[in-house]
Amino acid sequence: MTILISGGDVVDPEKGEVRKKDILVEAGKISGIFSPGEFVKTESQLRIIDVSGKIVVPGLIDMHVHLREPGEEYKETIATGAMAGAAGGFTGLACMPNTIPANDNSSVTEFILQQAYKANILRVYPIATITKGRKGEILTEFGDLRNAGAVGVTDDGSPVISSEIMRRALEYARYHNLTVISHCEDTALSKGGVMHEGTVSAQIGLQGIPSESEEIMVEREISLARLTGCPVHIAHVSTSGSVEAIRRAKEKGIQVTAETAPHYFSLDHSAVIGYNTNAKINPPLRTPDDIQAIREGLAEDVIDVIATDHAPHSPLEKNLEFDKAAFGIIGLETALPLTMALVRDGVLSLPAAIKKLSHAPASILGVCGGCIEKGASADLAVIDPEWEYVLKEEDILSRSKNSPFIGRTLKGRNIITMVEGRIVWSRDTEHISG
Ligand SMILES: [Zn+2]
Repeated sequence: MTILISGGDVVDPEKGEVRKKDILVEAGKISGIFSPGEFVKTESQLRIIDVSGKIVVPGLIDMHVHLREPGEEYKETIATGAMAGAAGGFTGLACMPNTIPANDNSSVTEFILQQAYKANILRVYPIATITKGRKGEILTEFGDLRNAGAVGVTDDGSPVISSEIMRRALEYARYHNLTVISHCEDTALSKGGVMHEGTVSAQIGLQGIPSESEEIMVEREISLARLTGCPVHIAHVSTSGSVEAIRRAKEKGIQVTAETAPHYFSLDHSAVIGYNTNAKINPPLRTPDDIQAIREGLAEDVIDVIATDHAPHSPLEKNLEFDKAAFGIIGLETALPLTMALVRDGVLSLPAAIKKLSHAPASILGVCGGCIEKGASADLAVIDPEWEYVLKEEDILSRSKNSPFIGRTLKGRNIITMVEGRIVWSRDTEHISG
């Protein structure tokens, strides 16, 4: 079927423009982009979707998601995570390899792609491990993993402690065209910590994780990128010191890119007060000054990407004493409204915000998407910027409900998600169609 997405404000993140356009979708592709009134209907089999007053963006791409399959399907599956992603406006998800077993060989990578194919909702990009079993000792077979469909490597959840192994990982990854994503944490320094080390941890008596445990490793990765001349991507930046280090590295022309997650520009460490385990994350929520630095880093393009670090956990891991609860929160269904808040606050223009959620991660991972142009795959999301709602647990599609934003009023909501010309999600009917 041919579809005309008519009357929306279309965001071009590359050009930094928002223009009223009609988008014609045929055979999975964008076959034409028209100014208002320019399109002339010639065939009868045309479905017109009127999106006047709404925003049309390239399908969002989340480069940091934990889909938990294989091994922890009670928390999330590739299918449930993909559905939650589609509801959040995402058309592509890059899934982290800390599954059980870890994605450290081509059979796991192939399994993930098969499950994504069966789910048939959105694009899933497997990220494989850097080292066997994420133990930091023996490099995985990067060539095999790339051939099986992996687009990047990381030991996320854990750092690669050995600088020598990380150096070789950067070199081999460039050779095999894989993006290296670094989870920056000096575990000797963070050991035993459950929240940010600062005034709140002292006040409520919890062991802290100092900002330096992240920053020391960010500095090391920058040094290794300089040494090797190879690119490195820094995951989930949470501190002002990390932003400053990345800014300096970029000024020197070192090939470093970085992401942060919506919770790091939306919540500070006081969210932990009351021992709320849905505010327990690694890296932890930091201080208001860190939030300010993250926002500046986004505005100045020191931080290239907004990724969710979607980390589903069941009540078994979260309804525990704070010290014992698992780290991590879900994020696929809240990333867009939390980012739209940055637009309303004047931190980012709308195209700049959408770029960090689509074009930038696509280009860092070397995958398709992130632009609306003739001939491109019709991967799109339609946003109602005025839709205000209270996030309710029962509305969350992810299999896990561990969000610190439940009960919060959010504004700006995805209403239609299209992947390859097929509507995989729409807010009106709340089911898959097409
Ligand atoms: Zn991580």
